Amino acid sequence: MTATFDFHLHTCWSYDAITPVERYFQLARERAVKYIAITEHHQMDSFAEVQDAARKYPDISCIPGAELTVHSPLGTFDMVCLGLPTVPTPELQRVFDAYHQWQRDVGDGFSDSLTAAGYPYTREDRLALLRRYRPEKTIQVQGITHVQNQVQLDYLMKEKKYFPNMEAFNAVRSSFVLPHYPEYSTVLPAVKRAGGLVFIAHPIHYFEQSNVARMDALRELLQFDGIECAHDMVPPKLTIFYHEYCIKHHLLSTAGSDCHSFEGALYRFGAGHDFGRHIGADVWRDAILERVSPLRVQ
Ligand SMILES: [Zn+2]
Repeated sequence: MTATFDFHLHTCWSYDAITPVERYFQLARERAVKYIAITEHHQMDSFAEVQDAARKYPDISCIPGAELTVHSPLGTFDMVCLGLPTVPTPELQRVFDAYHQWQRDVGDGFSDSLTAAGYPYTREDRLALLRRYRPEKTIQVQGITHVQNQVQLDYLMKEKKYFPNMEAFNAVRSSFVLPHYPEYSTVLPAVKRAGGLVFIAHPIHYFEQSNVARMDALRELLQFDGIECAHDMVPPKLTIFYHEYCIKHHLLSTAGSDCHSFEGALYRFGAGHDFGRHIGADVWRDAILERVSPLRVQ
């Protein structure tokens, strides 16, 4: 089932996605998805292209957004942020800068850790891998970040033949400690002060399915404006449960496909996430649109 809106989309400007920006606007037109939000991992580097595409497709409304992953005392969470300003506030720009640095640090840290364990994996190796699936313009802006999981794994296991199986790989990988993502207490207030709304993304694991005490604790800590109730990771029964929780606590409900690639792409990252496919209701969309404005372009 295709919905009339899709508020969770990644383009080739996300390190683990491949869809060109304009492709989503084309698909939106084809599938009568009237409202979309491009929500890159950790930044809005695609924004100039989003504005260009929005100009070419005036029939599609696009809400500026991003998906920011935050560290907190209760865990690490993906947060879909909608209604971000077209020019970031200085505070929000510092947040994006921190994420850019984080992505390069994670890549370098993993390379160093593997190399120290006797499996040489340099920054140049990562650059070559990134170039296999990412347009050069994204590398120019973002530098030598971490690499999409499957691409990296195939390289290390099948090409370099470092590890005969996942067990062997995991034994070495476990020595790498992922640096903390930027802190919730810095990131989320910056988003809100910039006029954005914060939603906890695909929360099935975050909420331990339907653990209300956990949901309350996360709502208290993260102060989110709403929940991504519909997403293909969330079974329909829980979509209803989360939406009822939203109503009870005066929260917004959102929905998105979390699409990362497209049919016919060279790499089918997250192939299960099909553009526009979720069971979210139009009234959820309308409630969000009362709070944030789509891009206005001439
Ligand atoms: Zn996502």
